[in-house]
Amino acid sequence: MPEICYKTPKSRRTKKRQTGSYALVLRLPSRRRVAVGRLGEVDFPKGYYIYFGSALGGLKARVARHLRHEKKLHWHADYLSAEVPWSQVWQLADGQRWECVWAREASELAGVDSGTAHPAPGFGSSDCHCSTHLVRVNNLQEVRMLLRSLSSDPRRIRLSRSLSE
Ligand SMILES: [Zn+2]
Repeated sequence: MPEICYKTPKSRRTKKRQTGSYALVLRLPSRRRVAVGRLGEVDFPKGYYIYFGSALGGLKARVARHLRHEKKLHWHADYLSAEVPWSQVWQLADGQRWECVWAREASELAGVDSGTAHPAPGFGSSDCHCSTHLVRVNNLQEVRMLLRSLSSDPRRIRLSRSLSE
């Protein structure tokens, strides 16, 4: 009998890799008042903001859209990144929808010692029951600690030119 190869076909692996969840990070250098779609005017204290989303239709294209400067403002995240672009992308391309789990875990982690962890209730969570998908922390160290503490394991990805164009 011929030997059978049980390796996952490449096409399946590739497809699986293209969907999953992401976290975007930006640094607001000073306090900003931003009109965020239907949420209205929101005061964002200076600090680092982490936004959680997922894209089961295509992770790379979704992240690329978030990083593009010229676009119609559609999601709450677009209004914030029109002020300051996202500077970090973390993602987990496992085909799962982690955004709500991550958002809740991050909210709890960030909320422990900071009253300003959630300046925008409802941000990014119009379609779910989370209080917010945007969490604020004070510095980069907290960003890293928080993202590494999530129950699944997003990794920071390098932002290539092709992705941010
Ligand atoms: Zn949610």
